[in-house]
Amino acid sequence: MSGISDILVLIKQVPDTSSKAGLNPDGTIDRAKAKRMLNPFDRYALQAALHVKKMYGGRVTALTMGPPPAVEILLEAIAHGADQGYLLSDRRLAASDTLATAYALHKCVLYLGKMDLIFTGLQTTDGDTAQVGPQIAERLDLPQVTYCEDFSIEEGKLHARRIVEGGHQDVICNLPALVTVANAYHQLEYKTLRGARLIQELNRDEALKNQYIHTITLDDVSADPELCGLKGSPTIVAHTDKVGQIGGQCVMHQGKSIEALVKEITGGTQIKEFVRQ
Ligand SMILES: Cc1cc2nc3c(=O)[nH]c(=O)nc-3n(C[C@H](O)[C@H](O)[C@H](O)COP(=O)(O)OP(=O)(O)OC[C@H]3O[C@@H](n4cnc5c(N)ncnc54)[C@H](O)[C@@H]3O)c2cc1C
Repeated sequence: MSGISDILVLIKQVPDTSSKAGLNPDGTIDRAKAKRMLNPFDRYALQAALHVKKMYGGRVTALTMGPPPAVEILLEAIAHGADQGYLLSDRRLAASDTLATAYALHKCVLYLGKMDLIFTGLQTTDGDTAQVGPQIAERLDLPQVTYCEDFSIEEGKLHARRIVEGGHQDVICNLPALVTVANAYHQLEYKTLRGARLIQELNRDEALKNQYIHTITLDDVSADPELCGLKGSPTIVAHTDKVGQIGGQCVMHQGKSIEALVKEITGGTQIKEFVRQ
């Protein structure tokens, strides 16, 4: 028996990078205008959670913190095979930095009860800090395996292979543990037919939907609002600039002497002679 009963996967809804997400005057992303999608990095985390369920048993819970439309990614997770979804949604969470986000999410994990394994993506495509997973592990006092590219569970221990600079590191740790899943892990498998049918039903039947998707607030998870949102965030996105037109004009320089090419490319700027030692 693997002893795995509960698996948690943290997923985030992000602006669809292919859509022209506008910026608000204060430089934050205009999330209302932007098309939304499941954070691409979280697809690997979801695959890892579903893999554990398939190989070792257990129930998969997907958890997201965000505005009400974030229910969409919980439905997507259920269509792929997750058993239930929790949305932590509360106006007091607005403008949370990673410290406040990790605080609020760790309170959710405590509220949900014992989890044998917690999976997160490596990072998000909007904040892109890769800080939330490790911070949650720290707050829950759990061992953490980051940049995990593959793993197995043997005799109640996690055997993981993680990517490190220039190679791999094999680590073994006790459960429960938190794992940030690298993009080198297996791609998310297609939605199951059963899952796709279930989503159609859930979208038709609100009562049934409420059996699979639960919306919770800061009060439900006994989180201190002073540690959430803008109040709880030592970091603020002070300003973001729209990058100009990416991609300059391509000019081919060929068929001339090095000196002529250097002169042409540098516009004749004097270049100090480089003498090979
Ligand atoms: C352009 C930009 C720059 C930012 N820079 C900073 C900064 O420098 N410092 C800072 O503290 N904050 C910053 N933020 C705010 C930060 O994005 C938010 O705090 C965000 O909620 C969490 O950080 P992240 O997106 O970097 O997540 P990451 O740490 O990159 O996410 C890692 C994983 O944690 C899980 N996760 C993250 N957010 C959620 C969620 N809401 N619900 C469920 N799971 C989640 C997912 O599994 C995800 O793959 C920035 C935001 C933007 C848009």
